[in-house]
Amino acid sequence: GPYAQLLLDAMKQSGCTVYNDRHFACEDCDGCVSGGFDSATSQIVLCQNNIHQQSHMNRVVTHELIHAFDHCRAHVDWFSNVKHLACSEIRAANLSGDCSLINEMTRFKFGLKQHHQTCVRDRAIRSILAVRKVSKETAEKAVDGVFDSCFNDHEPFGRVPHSKSDAKYAYRNFQNRDRYYANL
Ligand SMILES: [Zn+2]
Repeated sequence: GPYAQLLLDAMKQSGCTVYNDRHFACEDCDGCVSGGFDSATSQIVLCQNNIHQQSHMNRVVTHELIHAFDHCRAHVDWFSNVKHLACSEIRAANLSGDCSLINEMTRFKFGLKQHHQTCVRDRAIRSILAVRKVSKETAEKAVDGVFDSCFNDHEPFGRVPHSKSDAKYAYRNFQNRDRYYANL
């Protein structure tokens, strides 16, 4: 989809690993985990046993590519700094569509604008607990400590993409931004 394409282009232009098919692995995963990012190999794992819809697949790919983008851009200390992990999980939940309205409506949670933030916070905490042996309190503290700055960091999208047309718009903007710089 356009989200993933934008991320791939942004990474290429930032001098990051150029992702191709060999960076994606399909595996059976434990529990209800949908995907993962291996920072050592820059590989993205897609859990074929837990992904049954194309739209879900798109979200997982986008979510994991945001981790890959952060890894390249920010030299994230995934293992010893839980705040780094928390920040990337907040961004991935916020920007991948994990908490988009339609996605949330299918879970019968209608509502308030505030709900998007609550959803992002909850998912970031759950993601940390799925990959690190830390207490719920530690995960919550890490997420709350960096929430505002990481929730408002929309790179490379420019804003939170809420729909397919938003993503296409962001992608065009991203390309034009690049063109603009190229003309300076
Ligand atoms: Zn994640």
